[in-house]
Amino acid sequence: MPADYHTHTAYCGHARGSIGQYVESAISLGLREIGFSDHLGRYYLTPAQRRRYLDWGMDEKKLNRYFSDLLETKESYRDRINISVGLEIDYVEGCEQMLKPIIERYPLDYLLCSIHCLPRFGWKHLSAYLSYADTTEIYTEYFRVVRSAIDCGLFHILAHPDLIWRTIGWPTCETSLPFQEIADMTAAAKEASVAIEINSNGFRWSRENRLAYGDPFFTMLDQCANIGVRVSLGSDAHEPRDVGQLFPELRSALRQRGITGTACFTSGIMRNEPLA
Ligand SMILES: [Zn+2]
Ligand SMILES: [Zn+2]
Repeated sequence: MPADYHTHTAYCGHARGSIGQYVESAISLGLREIGFSDHLGRYYLTPAQRRRYLDWGMDEKKLNRYFSDLLETKESYRDRINISVGLEIDYVEGCEQMLKPIIERYPLDYLLCSIHCLPRFGWKHLSAYLSYADTTEIYTEYFRVVRSAIDCGLFHILAHPDLIWRTIGWPTCETSLPFQEIADMTAAAKEASVAIEINSNGFRWSRENRLAYGDPFFTMLDQCANIGVRVSLGSDAHEPRDVGQLFPELRSALRQRGITGTACFTSGIMRNEPLA
């Protein structure tokens, strides 16, 4: 099985299980590598922003322990599985300057970037935008922020771009606009050498929601294959049993499109791990 680069442990405060339990789960599934990406708390936002945006990330006091635990576990499992050290960061435009010195302090292999909130529409999780009758503006703003995250040069992987349609739904009328946004996103990722995450939850959503006017997840995957955007697999597991969920199906979906490897990282340097 290919590497799972999107996992959360008890360190982030809203997931269950220790690093060791996740590693054991990955080994029992036959994964060659597992990456840990607990949510960084929002220490990189301004005080005013922090007051408005609910912080569900890792307590700052736990950060040193998170990294030392990861490095010790990596060493003790070195003959059985490769462990990569990461963080998931909630991207807010303008946060780059404050974020940089924080991340430079730690022995990171990679950074996942995710967008859970669009400040232009209020400091709430994307699910709060469900009440908008016209989601076009939300889509336009979401993908604008996604491209800004890709272009800022700090991140290695764009996490779950599918979160927007899983959360507020895909437009029910025939419209090419969000498909064009996906095309622009994959082109930006290619240009910036940022990998796009192929997320188990996004895959499940598309299997369960058969859309009448084309499917965004598989469109995205096709575009990644067509223009050669590197992909990373992520379960977004919040408990050890969810590591590598749906990976056999995801691996076949990649292979069917001629994708022969996934992007893995060592100290920020991308390497291609061939699909077995
Ligand atoms: Zn989480
Ligand atoms: Zn996550």
